[in-house]
Amino acid sequence: MKADASLVVWFEELGQHDVPRVGGKNASLGEMVGRLAGKGISVPAGFATTATAYWRFVDENGLREAIAAALADLGDGKATLAETGEAIRNAFLRGHWPKEVAEAITADYNELCRRSGGAMADVAVRSSATAEDLPDASFAGQQETYLHIRGEEALLDACRRCYASLFTDRAISYRQTKGFDHLKVALSIGIQRMVRSDTGGAGVMFSIDTETGFEQVVLINAAWGLGENVVQGAVDPDEYEVFKPLLANPSLSPIIEMKRGGKARKMIYADDGDQPTRNVPTSEAERAAFVLDEREILQLARWACIIEEHYGRPMDMEWAKDGNSGELFIVQARPETVQSRREAGALKTYRIKRKGRTLASGLSVGEAVTGGTVCALESAREIDRFVDGAVLVTGTTDPDWVPIMKRAAAIVTDHGGRTSHAAIVSRELGLPAVVGTGNATRVLHDGQAVTVSCAEGEEGFVYEGLADFEAEDIDLRGIPATRTKVMLNMANPAAAFRWWRLPADGVGLARMEFVINNQIKIHPMALVRYETLADKEVKRRIAELTAGYADKTAYFVERLARALARIAAAHYPAPVIVRMSDFKTNEYANLIGGAEFEPKEQNPMLGFRGASRYYSPQYRDGFALECRAIRLLRKQLGFDNVIVMIPFCRSPKEADRVLEVMAANGLERGKDGLQVYVMCEIPSNVILARAFARRFDGFSIGSNDLTQLTLGVDRDSEVLAELFDEQDEAVEWMIRHVIDEAHAVGAKVGLCGQAPSDHPSFAEFLVTCGIDSMSVSPDSFVAVKRHVVAAEQAAAPGKVATRA
Ligand code: PEP
Ligand code: MG
Repeated sequence: MKADASLVVWFEELGQHDVPRVGGKNASLGEMVGRLAGKGISVPAGFATTATAYWRFVDENGLREAIAAALADLGDGKATLAETGEAIRNAFLRGHWPKEVAEAITADYNELCRRSGGAMADVAVRSSATAEDLPDASFAGQQETYLHIRGEEALLDACRRCYASLFTDRAISYRQTKGFDHLKVALSIGIQRMVRSDTGGAGVMFSIDTETGFEQVVLINAAWGLGENVVQGAVDPDEYEVFKPLLANPSLSPIIEMKRGGKARKMIYADDGDQPTRNVPTSEAERAAFVLDEREILQLARWACIIEEHYGRPMDMEWAKDGNSGELFIVQARPETVQSRREAGALKTYRIKRKGRTLASGLSVGEAVTGGTVCALESAREIDRFVDGAVLVTGTTDPDWVPIMKRAAAIVTDHGGRTSHAAIVSRELGLPAVVGTGNATRVLHDGQAVTVSCAEGEEGFVYEGLADFEAEDIDLRGIPATRTKVMLNMANPAAAFRWWRLPADGVGLARMEFVINNQIKIHPMALVRYETLADKEVKRRIAELTAGYADKTAYFVERLARALARIAAAHYPAPVIVRMSDFKTNEYANLIGGAEFEPKEQNPMLGFRGASRYYSPQYRDGFALECRAIRLLRKQLGFDNVIVMIPFCRSPKEADRVLEVMAANGLERGKDGLQVYVMCEIPSNVILARAFARRFDGFSIGSNDLTQLTLGVDRDSEVLAELFDEQDEAVEWMIRHVIDEAHAVGAKVGLCGQAPSDHPSFAEFLVTCGIDSMSVSPDSFVAVKRHVVAAEQAAAPGKVATRA
């Protein structure tokens, strides 16, 4: 029997324009099935009930009157929201199906079973409100979804419950606030073949960085089992990030982040009991493994790009992997609603000047900092206990929490990833949130004063007490382009995307040792010599951190390459100068396993650092890992905008030895476009500038070490702080001299020391010396740029071009 087309429609017959008929969710599923299947995107088959079907149900059961009466009581204060919601939902649940609607649904269900091979099909039953997914309101999780539904009777029952869920308390209150008429919103139901992600995995994906609005990455969250746990934030998922511009090249694998999540449990089918699904703990092996492999991550990211391109805007998607067949599917797609609405020309920055001890940390959501008093709640029913403007602390949130979240200053949860309910709603409300802390509800207590900071990159922190911080609004419009390039010094890959809006000419200094400290934490030689390490405790910690990697050195190489890739991605295709490690021996010794490999020196600043280590038998193998990471970064991940820089190179002879070791490790200057720079930070670099210039593509002046070594002032000495002056005549002579010498033989010169960041007017001196570029800390970028503009204008009035 053919089903009545005014009541049910197959996905492939639906498109974007069908929102009034089947709601945003189903219209978009239809659009994808119909228009994107040809581009390789798999969406599970299914059909939708129409708004007409909903109104038939409503009218058959006299529900208009019941709804209107219940809402009138709510308006008159005769009933509470909870009573009103329950009365309306019960009226729906008692309702019986108009014969023609029930027949249409079961007819299409039977057809779906036939199409899926004959047996009784498992379906997901999803709600799609006809006013849902408007560009300015995500309605995230407003109505219910029922998974693993099988058989006609169970299906009709789930459909009835979907209808009732249009009147959950939160949905009623949401419509009241947004001014939607309750009797003008209808509910369409999507009935979609179940993807067996109970035996595979599932999650959420965004075609934009959710925190910073950086448009060049796809963010994917993944957990084992059905996707509900990721959506609700009940698990800490894996997090992957892919750089979109390099995806088109099939020989590259531009995955710039693969972070393993805790994934403590998974939702699977429950074939006994009255619930169709249940949560079970994951195995140790599941927790140690990534849910998706590289090929799957790239495939999903490619789909995200196709879907985004099709809709012409950043998208928020749900995906699922069938564990039996290994196939991937997109099960939902809707417009991203937060970053896409943000004003393009503005950047708000926060600087924390003084802070208390760290009480908890997790993933940061948003980019703000705020202080407040903790209010820890176990359930949304405790709403009356919540104090306006407090920091909400809880295990996890679901849509019932929204009325509380609206009144909070910040939100901190134990569980959940960047795409969990708590994260999505906080972002929508513009609140900072730290999610997935693991222990917030244990360590934070009612009445405690805390500061929630999401302004320090991917990691968010809860500090004890009210921190001293300042906020600044930077207007990026009308910043002119300058002849002298102004680049950024980047230390923390986790914070790299925060600054993508700055019109910088690339990265002038990415200090590898910071990345090792932040993300790797293990001494490279301790990984090379893992088997023979003396310290048992060190071995245990290393084994723990490197779990899931093919071998110990792969941990270092892959982590380092991906971390640097985040920095390289934020400014691609502009040049990004990555400096090989420049730890001092005392700093190296502090890395896990470092003590066994580092000599104790009286004067580490003048000791075994920089270039001298790279060819030494004591570190050569460690340097080989650094080279492997750069090769992976440039060749496999595809970031050929990366330039390598050698620090603290004492003589031309040393330069030759380093270049030789690099070539032996597959990094040959000039091959595959590889440029190699050298720091100019020792007087010998200036005195023998031409000899160095012939061996490298350029110099970057390290004014910190150059000042220290020219004036003989320890850069770290508080006693001598007043004597440490980069604007001293002798230092300025050095800078001017090396620029002239380098230019005489055609080498480029930049400066990446602190001088212009600390004293923006110093930039004017550098411009008058004819320097090619300078690299500054991101928070001083705008001030430095102004000085560069002024100096260039003074030299050649009217020559500065303004960016649009
Ligand atoms: C410098 O010396 O100026 C420099 C940029 O290097 P570092 O501060 O890392 O020694
Ligand atoms: Mg230096």
